[in-house]
Amino acid sequence: MQCKNSIEALTPFLLELFDQSEQLIAIFDSNDLLCYANRAFQAAFFATPNGETTFADMMRANFHATRGSTVSDNDFEVWIASVLSRRGKQEFRAFEADLTDGRWIWMTETLHANGAMLCIASDITCLRQDARELRIDRDKALRASQTDALTGISNRGHIMQLLDIAIRQAASDKRPLCIACLDLDHFKKINDQYGHDIGDLVIRDFAQHLQACTRREDGCGRIGGEEFLLVLPDVSIDTASTIIDRLLETVRSAYPAKEHPTLTYSFSAGIASLCTDESLRSILKRADIALYSAKNLGRDQFQIAPS
Ligand code: GH3
Ligand code: MG
Ligand code: MG
Repeated sequence: MQCKNSIEALTPFLLELFDQSEQLIAIFDSNDLLCYANRAFQAAFFATPNGETTFADMMRANFHATRGSTVSDNDFEVWIASVLSRRGKQEFRAFEADLTDGRWIWMTETLHANGAMLCIASDITCLRQDARELRIDRDKALRASQTDALTGISNRGHIMQLLDIAIRQAASDKRPLCIACLDLDHFKKINDQYGHDIGDLVIRDFAQHLQACTRREDGCGRIGGEEFLLVLPDVSIDTASTIIDRLLETVRSAYPAKEHPTLTYSFSAGIASLCTDESLRSILKRADIALYSAKNLGRDQFQIAPS
């Protein structure tokens, strides 16, 4: 068959070839909704592009049915938080992954400027296995070095790295960038009253709400005991305020511990927007000062750092 030199003619031809291919091919949109998957991808991940399934939904459904990717954590939510903390943050990345059917794949992710992501995976099960254990250990160690063990979101080192990249990108593209420093209110009292384990549960609950309010390109990390950082590329102060406002609302009605149905919590936040030629230290410092003025003004609220 001859390829006509036009996209319209090429598209059905390509889709036919993709369905014939053993490569796993999929496209996720900027909201991480599965919008295209070839036959091999659909068979491996038991997902059809119905316009409703996000990447996280697809992985969750597979986890509960013991199929799709192998999940290297007993707690799926911690595992997916860690996966999402690395997904869609750079233009291209590639990594090895295991499927529960015993296959071993080499997954590549290519990010378009409009936020769409092309995923192509090759079955590499038949490749030489000798250095495989070593590579898997290396990948695990790399992931562990970027992940907060309690919550699964980025740890301090990783979120600072994401912030550094986001600052450079915003400066070169002349696009806005907002950050938010968040700190749980009177957290010591929660630990004192309910114990450290329940305190940990609250931290995990907050991390889940925090990650749920982010887009794929945002960064979300735990930078200290009960302190967190959000990195929001291409976001104005107004949008950042709306995001934090919604999060305040969500957390106000959260009941993180079933065994303590009256236990509620809140947080305070400081938001800062990147100024021209501003350094990482400087924007963090401004957000932190805004956070402390939110604390002083009564907590359970956010303040915006003056630029
Ligand atoms: P504020 O509203 O001013 O932020 O008050 P706070 O009590 O939250 O602040 P403070 O910094 O005094 O206390 C933070 C507490 O967080 C102290 C520490 O014991 C606790 N903490 C730090 N890391 C962890 C953790 O991983 N798990 C638990 N359960 N508690 C932690
Ligand atoms: Mg604190
Ligand atoms: Mg606190």
